[in-house]
Amino acid sequence: MDELTPFHGRINDLVSLGLAVVFGYLVVELLLLHFFWRKLDLRVVRMTMLGFVGTALASPIVARLLGPFTVGFAALAGAESSFFRVGTQWYGLIYAFVVYEFFYWLQHWLAHKVRLLWCIHSPHHAPGGIHMAIGANHHFLEGLVYFPFFFGFMTALFGVDPMIAVGLNVLDTVWGSYLHVSDEILREGRYGWVGRFMQTPAHHRVHHAKNPRYVDRNYNSITLLWDWLLGTLEPLRESEPVEYGITRPVDHGSYWDVHFGEFAALCRDLRSAKGPADVLGYLFRAPGWQPGDASHTASALRARLLAGERG
Ligand SMILES: [Zn+2]
Ligand SMILES: [Zn+2]
Repeated sequence: MDELTPFHGRINDLVSLGLAVVFGYLVVELLLLHFFWRKLDLRVVRMTMLGFVGTALASPIVARLLGPFTVGFAALAGAESSFFRVGTQWYGLIYAFVVYEFFYWLQHWLAHKVRLLWCIHSPHHAPGGIHMAIGANHHFLEGLVYFPFFFGFMTALFGVDPMIAVGLNVLDTVWGSYLHVSDEILREGRYGWVGRFMQTPAHHRVHHAKNPRYVDRNYNSITLLWDWLLGTLEPLRESEPVEYGITRPVDHGSYWDVHFGEFAALCRDLRSAKGPADVLGYLFRAPGWQPGDASHTASALRARLLAGERG
């Protein structure tokens, strides 16, 4: 316990600093969009605020079931379960960064490729647009359980110092939130040569697109490393503007539709299942999959587009 107290103190300082930065530019952006560009859909802002309230209300329930499951606590649990810990020397920091980014890529890829996980990730994509309040819009299970498991527990389980895991999460939160800056505030967002190795707002606009070429691309939030290594990198093309949103029709201002609409669609499909194979397919295969028909998944749509272009 003596060892934990200073750890928690330093974590609180780091996390508070990160949240203050994010909250500051989020408020400035919303004010500019509303009063200067007059482009802000206030129903979407209200929906995102209800999302924050939902997370706050669910937090004590999750804490009761799992303990206070923040990235910091999860990182401590991961470190306690780990057989090794890499130090904070320069090579240890590089190792930590590569491991953190890998688990970021993995959790995000799974969230797009496993339908049950897509149910908790889709609220981040469902609003038909992008600004920093939409960037902060997450299902409560994603923010309170899913992210801490990967960013804290798994990263520390693979030997990353818990404090470094939290530090990387704060860095990721600050830069990752900024990636959602709106097209009105920042028209291009490519940042020249920086965009050759860092994720930029242009890369993340691609990630929020429903165009078959862009869908399910650019999973990371700091560098391009794992997207490049694992073949999921896609630059924004001048010739193909982004169409924001997801493929099902969504009432963007409705908290229930944005945060629970995918669960409702999944329940409808499960009720129509003809056996255990259908049930498992609906739960764990990619969104768009139907029994005997995988032609409507993002991978299939993209493959058809690219095959058509090759002639
Ligand atoms: Zn995503
Ligand atoms: Zn995003």
